[in-house]
Amino acid sequence: MVDKKNGMMFVLSSPSGVGKTTLTKKIANNNPNFKISISHTTRKPRPSEVDGKDYYFVNDEKFNLLIKNNSFFEHAKIFDHHYGTLKTPVLNSLKEGHNVLFDIDWQGTQQLKKEKNISLITIFILPPNIVALKGRLLNRHQGQEEIIIKRMNKFSEEISHWNEYNYVVINDDLDLCYNKILEIISSEKNDKAQKQNFEEVEKKVKELIK
Ligand code: 5GP
Repeated sequence: MVDKKNGMMFVLSSPSGVGKTTLTKKIANNNPNFKISISHTTRKPRPSEVDGKDYYFVNDEKFNLLIKNNSFFEHAKIFDHHYGTLKTPVLNSLKEGHNVLFDIDWQGTQQLKKEKNISLITIFILPPNIVALKGRLLNRHQGQEEIIIKRMNKFSEEISHWNEYNYVVINDDLDLCYNKILEIISSEKNDKAQKQNFEEVEKKVKELIK
């Protein structure tokens, strides 16, 4: 069993464009004991992305080989592309006493939840409203109307998995959301965690997908 005080795994999931990548990076940059799990993907890098830092960008052949060799902790197909987390780097980080942060979707989270002998805490991040989400997507995919429509359509499906997570946090303000996530992490690491009341969250989700 991994010592809870040392290596724990924290998953952050959200519909696309809710700011979870920014949050994950902020946690890792400000807390040296946290490492981000760098995924493999078959999608093409965005202009600002760096291979080996944001993702390992690979082709389908390489990805399929990793599946065949049972190298992945979890993997999933999202928006026509494959994404996956390798086992070895995660287990090494945990052994070294680091906490590992995962920016992965609900499919990958379901797979990690089936793993035994790991300490896994899952956090789902919601946007404050649909307008804010569309704004962020428009900004990220300027001129790529088809991608924006596809990602907006996927929103309801992704959000329907919110109650499979231990915690749900609304990203209405980046710093507030970041602080809430740090509080959750700290309470879990110090065995002071309290189960979140999901009544308010349920209302919020209904409002977002109505
Ligand atoms: P993007 O293409 O915008 O970077 O990511 C699309 C989605 O893939 C996001 O929801 C992100 O969390 C998810 N994702 C990134 N890496 C992985 C991974 O290794 N496994 C899974 N299951 N999802 C991932």
